[in-house]
Amino acid sequence: MAQSASADHSLSDLFQCKWDDKDGFQCNDLFYGNNFSAHVQEAHQIIGGNKARVRCQWNHCGMELNLENLARHVKERHLGIALRCDICGRQGFSRRDTLHKHRETCSGS
Ligand SMILES: [Zn+2]
Ligand SMILES: [Zn+2]
Ligand SMILES: [Zn+2]
Repeated sequence: MAQSASADHSLSDLFQCKWDDKDGFQCNDLFYGNNFSAHVQEAHQIIGGNKARVRCQWNHCGMELNLENLARHVKERHLGIALRCDICGRQGFSRRDTLHKHRETCSGS
């Protein structure tokens, strides 16, 4: 039985940034999944406290959210790094080994 893997990307992969910069250009810089927060800070001036309201400009997304949730949003929605337990459906695991550990104890309820 082939178990379909939940994600083929991991945080250590290189991604191309699709953040809309001024004038309708996309950033297109390469960054590692782990470095997303640092990249948007430096390249797109997305800075502020955790509760600062920011708008996701990834590929015209336009979603408004707190800064503290931005990295997770982009990783899950736009980079496809959402690791999900296929037993209970819980998602948001950022590392494969965390997920594996969880699955060992997951009862599915
Ligand atoms: Zn960028
Ligand atoms: Zn978005
Ligand atoms: Zn589970």
